[in-house]
Parts: sequence; structure tokens; C-alpha cells
Amino acid sequence: MVEIRGISASPGIVWGRAFIYIDNNSPVPKYDIRPAWVENEKRRLAGAYEKAVAEVEGLKCQTRGFIQSGEILDAHAALLRDPEVRSEIEGRLERELLNVDWIAQETFRAYGERLGESGDDYLRERVTDIHDVGQRLLSHLMHVNKVSLSSIREKVILVGRDLMPSEAVEMNPDIILGLAMEKGGRTSHTAILARTFRIPAVLGLPRFVQNVRPGDEILVDGNKGLVIINPDESTRSVYDQSRQVWLRRGEALSQFTGLPSRTRDGVEVPLMGNIEVPDDAEKLSMYGASGIGLYRSEFLFLQSRRLPAEDVQMRAYAQVLEAMGGLEVTIRTLDLGGDKINAELSDLAEENPLLGWRAIRFCLSRRDIFKTQLRALYRASVSGRLKIMFPMISCIEEFEDALELAAEVRDELGREGRPFENVPVGCMIEMPAAAAAADILAQKAAFFSIGTNDLIQYTLAVDRGNQRVAYLYDYFQPAVLRFIQNTIAAAHAGGIRVCMCGEMAGDPLAALVLLGLGLDEFSMNGSAIPEVKRIVRSVSLPDAASFAGEALAMRSGREIGKFVRDYMERHFDLSVY
Ligand code: PEP
Ligand code: MG
Repeated sequence: MVEIRGISASPGIVWGRAFIYIDNNSPVPKYDIRPAWVENEKRRLAGAYEKAVAEVEGLKCQTRGFIQSGEILDAHAALLRDPEVRSEIEGRLERELLNVDWIAQETFRAYGERLGESGDDYLRERVTDIHDVGQRLLSHLMHVNKVSLSSIREKVILVGRDLMPSEAVEMNPDIILGLAMEKGGRTSHTAILARTFRIPAVLGLPRFVQNVRPGDEILVDGNKGLVIINPDESTRSVYDQSRQVWLRRGEALSQFTGLPSRTRDGVEVPLMGNIEVPDDAEKLSMYGASGIGLYRSEFLFLQSRRLPAEDVQMRAYAQVLEAMGGLEVTIRTLDLGGDKINAELSDLAEENPLLGWRAIRFCLSRRDIFKTQLRALYRASVSGRLKIMFPMISCIEEFEDALELAAEVRDELGREGRPFENVPVGCMIEMPAAAAAADILAQKAAFFSIGTNDLIQYTLAVDRGNQRVAYLYDYFQPAVLRFIQNTIAAAHAGGIRVCMCGEMAGDPLAALVLLGLGLDEFSMNGSAIPEVKRIVRSVSLPDAASFAGEALAMRSGREIGKFVRDYMERHFDLSVY
């Protein structure tokens, strides 16, 4: 039995068999082989081809309707049956006397490069297919599980180095019981998706994969942020009890679902849900959400190999608006880049992506893509109460530029005689520059939404997905709280409301401080709503304000954190966190 501590990324306790999932970044070994081994390497290659073909055929039967996987898998199957690459691998194997994994990787890479340089559009589009097929083949050669997450059939605990958001969005919560990954922080998109899917998760586990063998039993305690490999009987029974307590706690909190989110002094504080895929909208009603404060529209792009067409987007947005039946829905325009990269936009992969060409910057330079999204949003606006917001705004010019494009789109739709609503357009505050200049942005924005995940990352210069510096990622740092305070004060002075849609909004520990700072609305993972509502209902705004005042008078994140934690644990029994 081995116990390893990591970062608590999604609450809950679960155990099951390990499924080791290997990401694209795992290095492929390179070693010399003797001539006598060539035949054996060829047999390995043949076996890998056989498994890869069977896997692709199996996947074809299982693909989900909304992903255009059918035709892609057909292309993959054809590539796997094509003798050209395979005979090239075999030829190189005989000539170069290196292991077949390495040769296969190099051959697929060179083949992809040749296609990429060709003048033919069709051939150039095949590069991603070549890459995917190469990865699949390698996974079988190396006996690791590089498969689509949606193709796993047995209930497992997913163990690996890292998951990309485009991979994590494929997780089926009935199959993936828990997550234990080496990389990632509490506000990485994988953690956010795990919470959305209610999959207990521990991330940032140092050197974890090397300690696990496929099929080992793994216990994931997402509340405490630890995992245990092959727990013994007595440990399991202790955890069984903790799990029962955790589940009973969830049931007890469900009594808040139907109650209004109103403070003791009668102020309504809307508690909204964050979603990543349209189907999640319906689930929000079971948590009593007052609407959707953040729909991360880029996941529609991550789930699809091609950029979704205007009509496809329009239907997805309309589906969300209709599911919410007249409640407000705030859709954030594309926030691609950083860790969120669509297969068709691979040039988004940059050396320093978090400071690079992402979100609104990308949209303003790819106006074709941005305009298509804005047209889809406005066309969907007749299906409910839509609000639009722009991500990663750093200055007023950017915001005005985006507003202008939105106006252009409205004119265009008007000329085409298409109906649309004049929806409020807000600004996300997730950069220190935006928080400091909130008074200027408030003159143009219909509302603010504070994205603390990025605001904290940029304020403290801490990569939110990097477990090594996760100890510095702290929203009780005075600098962070002051930015939040300044944003809210500037918004109120400008007569607009402020929502918070970063993960801080769903952390019950932070709820009282945020209320006290004057936050008007909270948007969070649906499952966090009942707990935050319990806190909202039990305080008055003046009491919350004096609590926040006391916290802000302190000089360090540690001091504020301790003050808040002690108070909240005493009054709200939050010890389980
Ligand atoms: C944020 O940065 O807080 C936010 C809500 O956006 P995302 O997590 O998608 O970057
Ligand atoms: Mg963000």
C-alpha cells in the first residue's frame, strides 16, 4: 500500500482498477537492435497494426453522434490498411537497426511532413489523420493505452501524466470513476471538467505513473487530495465510512435546491452554473441554478475536428438557451489557445501560449471565425435570455474592437432580415490590466464577469496547471482580493453588475468574503451551488462586509486564509474541504 499526496481537484471518494492513459508527450525510447531481432520487431509491428485496426473498427461502432468521428475513423482505418507506410517502416527497420517504436514514430512524422508540404489541400488536411494513426500504432507498440477516452468500456480509475481539455471532455462519468494525474492544478481545465462530470480527482501527483501497474487498485480521495495504491482491507473500510459521510452530506445539501438564494437581509444573490457542453445545461436544474453564468463555448470547437459551422453553433447555443427556459445564459465567446487547442488550429500551439495568441486576441485576428460565432450567437438569441461576454480583455481598445464587430454582425443580420435580440455584452475581468482599468471598461461593458482562474494566474505569475507552483496559487493573497475589490467598486460606480465565474466563486470558503466585497452574482460548477447557497442564506450583507473588511486589513495570504478558514469551519462546518 502506497499513499501519495497531490492536489485536491474534484471532491469525492472512489476506488477502482487503474487504467494507465498515456498522453502524446510520453517520450518514445530509441535503442539499437541486433539483426537477429528484426523479425521479432516486425512481429511486434504486425501485432500493433492488427490491434490498431480492431480498435478503430470498434470505435466506429461506438462514436457519439455529435462528434464528426465516423468519417475520420474511416480515414484512419484506410491509412492503417495502406501498405505504403508499413513497408517503409519495415525497410527502415532492416537498414537502420533501431527499435520499431522509434522507426514507426519517425516514419509517420516524415510522412506527415511530406503531406504538409504538398500543394494539394486535401493531402494537407490528412496530416492530422497521419499523426493520430501514428500515435495509435505507437500506443500498441509500447503497450500503453493511447485510446480515445470515450472508448474505454470498463469502470476504471484513469491514471496518467496529463489530460488535455480536448481529451477530458470525452470522459464518460459512468466509466471513469476517478482521476489520478501527475500534472494539473485545481483550476486547470481538466480539474474543472472533472468537477463538472462529478468525477473525484487528484492531480499534481509527483512521479505517480511509475508507481502504478495496470489493474492495481487505486483509491482516490478528492476531498483530501490523496491517492492510495492497493489499499489494504482496513484502509478501505475507513474510506468506505468517509464515503458514506460524504454522500450523506450531498443528500443533506440537496434540501437547499428549491430555496431562494437570498441573504438574511433579503438581497437576492443569483447562483448560476458553469457549463462546457450543451447537454450539461439540463443538469443544472437539479442544483437549483439561477441561470448559466459561463458557457465555455470553445469546447464545442474542441470536440470537433473541423471548426463548427454557423448553423451547428447556432443550434448548440439555442439548445442551451431553450434548456434554461427563460433563465439568463451568459455565453463566452471563443477562448481557444493556452491549453485549449482545436485540431484544425494547430498553429495555436506556441512556446508561451498563456501569454500568446489566445481568446479575444485570436478572435480579433481571425475575424472570419469570430464573426461566424457572433452571427450564430445573435441568431440563437431569440431562443432565450442570452448575454454575451468576451474573454481575456486586456484593454479598452480590444473590447471596443470586439463590440464593433458585434455591431457589424447585427447590421448584417438586420439586412438579411434575420431576427435577433439586442443582448447585453459584457467583459471578463481576468487580467490584472483589466482589473486595474475596470473603471474604464465599465463605461462600455453591460456587465463584468471576473475570471479568477486566469486573474490569479496572471496576478501572481503562477501557471494554473503547474503543480510545482500550485502552492503559490492563492486567492486570499491581498493583491488578488484588492483586484476583485477594485473591479466590483468600479463596476458599481459605473452602474453595472459583477458576476464571478472563476472557480473561486464555487468555493464555499470564499463565499463570505466575496459577498462582503459586494459581488452581485456567482457562477460555478452546478454541484457547488447548494453549499454556497447555504452560506448566502445564513448571512446578512453588512455582516459579510465587515468580515471582508477584516480580511482585507490583513497583510498576507496565509493570514487571511487562516482567518477565513477558522471562521468558516466554525460557523459552517466546512471541515470536509
Ligand atoms: C477564469 O479564467 O476564471 C475563467 C472562468 O475562464 P477559464 O477557466 O475558462 O479560463
Ligand atoms: Mg479564463
